[in-house]
Amino acid sequence: MKPAAFDYFAPKSIEEALALLAEHGYDAKPLAGGQSLVPTMNFRLAQPAVLVDLNGIDELFFIREGGDGLRIGAMTRQRTVERSPLVQHRAPLIHETMPHIAHPQIRNRGTFGGSLAHADPASELPALAVTLNARLRVQSSRGERWVAAKDFYLDLFATDLQPDELLVEIAIPDLPAHTGWAFDEVARRHGDYAMAGAAATVTLAEDGTVTGARLVYLSVGDYPTEAFQAQALLIGEVPSPAVIRSAAETAAAQDINPGSDIHASADYRRHLAKVLAGRVLNRAVERAKAR
Ligand SMILES: Cc1cc2nc3c(=O)[nH]c(=O)nc-3n(C[C@H](O)[C@H](O)[C@H](O)COP(=O)(O)OP(=O)(O)OC[C@H]3O[C@@H](n4cnc5c(N)ncnc54)[C@H](O)[C@@H]3O)c2cc1C
Repeated sequence: MKPAAFDYFAPKSIEEALALLAEHGYDAKPLAGGQSLVPTMNFRLAQPAVLVDLNGIDELFFIREGGDGLRIGAMTRQRTVERSPLVQHRAPLIHETMPHIAHPQIRNRGTFGGSLAHADPASELPALAVTLNARLRVQSSRGERWVAAKDFYLDLFATDLQPDELLVEIAIPDLPAHTGWAFDEVARRHGDYAMAGAAATVTLAEDGTVTGARLVYLSVGDYPTEAFQAQALLIGEVPSPAVIRSAAETAAAQDINPGSDIHASADYRRHLAKVLAGRVLNRAVERAKAR
């Protein structure tokens, strides 16, 4: 199908883009990589009257070191993030996860910020942003604000972004010392959206007990799902196989509320959630010991 008719603007600065969003409000949509927006327009699930194309705004494309971690511009291509030595070094969880997102052709065009703003519950990057305590810089012609990733996701495909706001930058803090990380997912074919996925970080004290743990799922709820009860079980424990198994079982049984759809039943998603939690927690613990 073809999209409904729309007006097209190609601003060259953030300021110009924000003025267009302020003028057109709910009728306008920013266009980033177009890998989600254009298909939904072609299916007429979205019919914005105005597209504000961000691709000509050079100041939105960057990866740089900030004081306490990395700063990534919203329009940075997913493939650029995947291939960045800086990301590999300072945000290894992101580096490990990028190849799971779609296919190289889509990552060549899709953007880091576009994926976060789109808020697909099956997307990897929103779950990573929550796991890593990312902060999102949001700008409008009214000013700017920072939002913690955990507060950004409100519902299915719904974020805290207002229609006149742009996501401009993402701050990813460094992992604490002695922290390991891991990501894994299960999809029918590599590159498909996952039926379930999980990201974890584990921080160990000198005596080997867990002082910090994050376990966040994708595709088992309407937005990134943090396994709070499983995390609490790990804190203060030496992460033996029995402790990890118990955390994984708790996560799958109590922390998530998956739905059934044509891709997987709720029961199967719970099964995957348990298996994936075991895998990512074990790998994160091994890496924490090695750091
Ligand atoms: C076949 C296929 C398979 C895919 N598989 C996966 C997968 O496995 N995992 C996955 O995570 N993704 C997958 N994707 C989606 C892909 O990662 C998209 O690139 C991503 O979801 C959206 O990024 P984009 O830059 O293309 O954004 P766009 O499609 O341009 O925009 C998406 C939405 O976000 C808004 N938006 C974009 N940028 C901003 C901004 N800076 N500020 C405010 N709002 C903004 C737009 O207005 C729009 O509503 C797949 C896509 C396809 C076509």
